[in-house]
Amino acid sequence: MLWFPSFEPLNEQTGKGGRYNQAMKALIIVDIQYDFLPGGALPVERGDEVIPVINRIQDKYDLVVATQDWHPAKHGSFASAHKGAQLFEERTLGGLPQVMWPDHCVQMTHGAELVADLDQRLVEVVFRKGMDPKIDSYSGFFDNGRKKATGLADYLKGKGVEAVHVCGLAADYCVYYTAMDALDLGFKASIIEAATRPISATGFEAAKQEFLARGGWVE
Ligand SMILES: [Zn+2]
Repeated sequence: MLWFPSFEPLNEQTGKGGRYNQAMKALIIVDIQYDFLPGGALPVERGDEVIPVINRIQDKYDLVVATQDWHPAKHGSFASAHKGAQLFEERTLGGLPQVMWPDHCVQMTHGAELVADLDQRLVEVVFRKGMDPKIDSYSGFFDNGRKKATGLADYLKGKGVEAVHVCGLAADYCVYYTAMDALDLGFKASIIEAATRPISATGFEAAKQEFLARGGWVE
């Protein structure tokens, strides 16, 4: 794993320094919800396998936060909200390209709950996204049009976080967009490959290349 250490030079007069300091780092756990697991409304293949991995790594971080997809019924990202739309086809929503998803993570339903097997003892805050029916939100930081922030960036900055490691579901959508936004916002960012699974393996390969080219790490 990468810890993004920063070097503090040795002061020969005082004898202080001369060591690596670890930057404050946070783990962002994206959308570990029943609807994204096998058997759910929008299942990610082998998505359940990431949970024990995420549970194992949480205590390596100074701070752990999570995101939760949290849609009102008839959300604009649902195929069911568009006349004649086919599942997974691309249409537009509010002028932005929009995949027509099956209904998923509807507020107050079991499918929207964070999975009970996810250890939440170290999760300090859960940031919800996707409440506005007129726009989708893949990233944990903003909606897809960047009209509204969730507050996650300010929260992390207020805690002095410099580096974020992103895991969860799905690798090629919400994990990828969260990690890309983290870079844009000035955080060092990595995607933890063992703790994420994609909807499309080829989609994730392309996403990884974009993320690496932008200065991210995949570990
Ligand atoms: Zn959603």
